[in-house]
Amino acid sequence: MARRRGGVAAAAAAAASPAVVGAVSVMALVYYSTVFIFLDHWLGLGTTAGAANAAAFSVVVAACFFSFLCAAAADPGSVPASFAPDAEDPQRQGLKSRYCDKCCMYKPSRTHHCKVCKRCVLKMDHHCVWINNCVGYANYKSFIICVLNATIGSLYSLVVFLFDLFQTEHEFDVPYVKVIHKH
Ligand SMILES: [Zn+2]
Ligand SMILES: [Zn+2]
Repeated sequence: MARRRGGVAAAAAAAASPAVVGAVSVMALVYYSTVFIFLDHWLGLGTTAGAANAAAFSVVVAACFFSFLCAAAADPGSVPASFAPDAEDPQRQGLKSRYCDKCCMYKPSRTHHCKVCKRCVLKMDHHCVWINNCVGYANYKSFIICVLNATIGSLYSLVVFLFDLFQTEHEFDVPYVKVIHKH
């Protein structure tokens, strides 16, 4: 139950961050302009090719958005309350460096304290401002899936934009073309 509350609190905190709102806005803007402006103008959403491209692009963006939410809302990796350094560990001389002064507890190896999250995170990779969360043991996979889908989506969007720009005979009815030709 505590874990569930923590997840909700983390999701609420993540949603309040301007960088997270910015990232979601960019996703929405790219999706809207790619499908409803460039793709519609190039192939037409009523055609089979246009509808197929819109469906494929929607799947990529949905996967990106879902993995983004998972990475942002996840607990990146809490140190178990029961964790205690092994007294028989031959490397116990190094224990002092594995004690977190801020959390006042011992931490397993590869655990680091995040100054932004104000807590220790298992296998901490880095603190990502775009998800307003640390990337660690528990959300590394969803973070990588999000980055991969964002890369595929960006390239897809760029290709659709370029095809629309060079393969469509513009009739000066689209705002961005008007803007380009005015100057
Ligand atoms: Zn700590
Ligand atoms: Zn952090």
